[in-house]
Amino acid sequence: MTLTKEEEQQTQLIGHNDLAHKSLLQSDALYQYILDTSVHPREHEKLKELREMTEKHPWNLMATPPDEGQLLSMLLKLMNAKHTMEIGVYTGYSLLSTALALPHDGKILALDVNREYYELGLPIIQKAGVSHKIDFREGPALRLLDDLLKDENNKGIFDFIFVDADKDNYLNYHKRVIELVKIGGLIGYDNTLWNGSVVAPPDAPLMGYVKRYRGHVMELNKYLAQDSRIEICQLPVGDGITLCRRVI
Ligand code: SAM
Ligand code: CA
Repeated sequence: MTLTKEEEQQTQLIGHNDLAHKSLLQSDALYQYILDTSVHPREHEKLKELREMTEKHPWNLMATPPDEGQLLSMLLKLMNAKHTMEIGVYTGYSLLSTALALPHDGKILALDVNREYYELGLPIIQKAGVSHKIDFREGPALRLLDDLLKDENNKGIFDFIFVDADKDNYLNYHKRVIELVKIGGLIGYDNTLWNGSVVAPPDAPLMGYVKRYRGHVMELNKYLAQDSRIEICQLPVGDGITLCRRVI
């Protein structure tokens, strides 16, 4: 395909800088179309409230975007998931999406080093009537996972585990969560396209944190692709999510 000069200029104009971190789609307009047409009209009112509250927080780029929340909700319902875990909660957008998707007696083990972030969203989660499903534990996730693994009864019991915390530990999380998820269950690794930087040339001018974790994300992607214990599917939703179904 050859582009005219005008088309080339247009292509440059519709880069996705404004909504970077929210979507890897080729234009902001296309992403906005998805949000306006299929996501925002269907977003639960408490998810909307949580999203709007989080937008005012200085670290709001960490929040799960609503189209990804919609994907998680759909997956959980299709799987009839009842028992899930989330590593990396922040103000709780993906946590509330999960809690709303699980049945009344569903359970989510939610791990984060920072309780203050979780407590920002908690009043909204309570108003949504789903806080009884959440068991929040504060601390470094690796230690909490190691504690869980000391009890054989915790092995192979989770239907779904969403990993969305420190990217340099994803491979360490993988070693542990693969034992905690049930055979046939799903692990979702978030941000596996890392702002598109996985294909950036080595000398590309990347933001500091993007540069810092890029290698870890690429290493994870390579590892998951050869791990015969799982089937994988990497989706360009949000910042990229890799779904891993445990098969053995
Ligand atoms: N899933 C969240 C959402 O929907 O908004 C976003 C999570 S945010 C990208 C990453 C979170 O991981 C932060 O809240 C941070 O405190 C937490 N975190 C970072 N390092 C951690 C660690 N070692 N153990 C547990 N949580 C950690
Ligand atoms: Ca994320």
